[in-house]
Amino acid sequence: MFYLGMDVGSTATKCIVVDGSGTIVGKGLARGGAGTKAPAAAEAEALAQAQVSESEIETICATGYGRHLFDQANMEKSELSCHAKGASRLFPGVRTVIDIGGQDAKVLRLGVGGSLENFAMNDKCAAGTGRFLDVMAGVFGCDVSELSDYDRQSDHSVSISSTCTVFAESEVISKLASGESIYDVAAGVHDSVVDRTAGLANRLGIVPPVAMTGGVALNDALRERLEKKIGYPIQTSELAQFNGAFGAAIYALEA
Ligand code: ADP
Repeated sequence: MFYLGMDVGSTATKCIVVDGSGTIVGKGLARGGAGTKAPAAAEAEALAQAQVSESEIETICATGYGRHLFDQANMEKSELSCHAKGASRLFPGVRTVIDIGGQDAKVLRLGVGGSLENFAMNDKCAAGTGRFLDVMAGVFGCDVSELSDYDRQSDHSVSISSTCTVFAESEVISKLASGESIYDVAAGVHDSVVDRTAGLANRLGIVPPVAMTGGVALNDALRERLEKKIGYPIQTSELAQFNGAFGAAIYALEA
């Protein structure tokens, strides 16, 4: 039998299928969250990759912002629980998990056995989240996945003083118009997210080893800036964006 975890996020829906030993056999990701076709698309992709039919799925656990709207689920778990569960498997022994998604940023402290001990969260403001980066990528006319390469071509970071996403967007537009290089402005955009993330992490207190999850963990240049800022190496994984869905799949298995 197989077990399915579905993370219905704000910008992307992630699905993981595990077998009876908790090994990942399929994954799917679709743009869009609750109320869109993304959950069905992510599930179809994960099942096809796993070569598993719906009837072979024993339990489905939903998590994420839009989990209440995913009615095929047999159970639901909070994002924090699933992120803690997933991270303790993806990064054995990890004590601090920094998760930056499309709409929020959170820092989790795990206990020695992987249980959630404490957390700090920003879900009130787009600054310091993937949304901020998505908006700035729109100004640069590139995809968010290209921001890391932009940063790598920078020789100095142009400071972005506005923290509000709307004002920062105007500031970025005027910096570009005044002749600053797009690469240096991209580095400044990264530093803005890094400063807010480090502030959140320091509020909680950072205990190493540290790992980063969520879609923004795929941005290597930003992650390296964050490593320098907090003074600890940060592990990540190609499955970083699937961490919540993986945790949900493990909950489904344990149920
Ligand atoms: P949510 O669960 O809230 O939908 P995710 O953890 O899926 O959030 O992260 C989505 C965010 O990750 C996007 O807003 C975007 O900024 C960022 N992101 C997604 N894919 C990439 C990528 N390939 N490279 C860099 N950043 C990415």
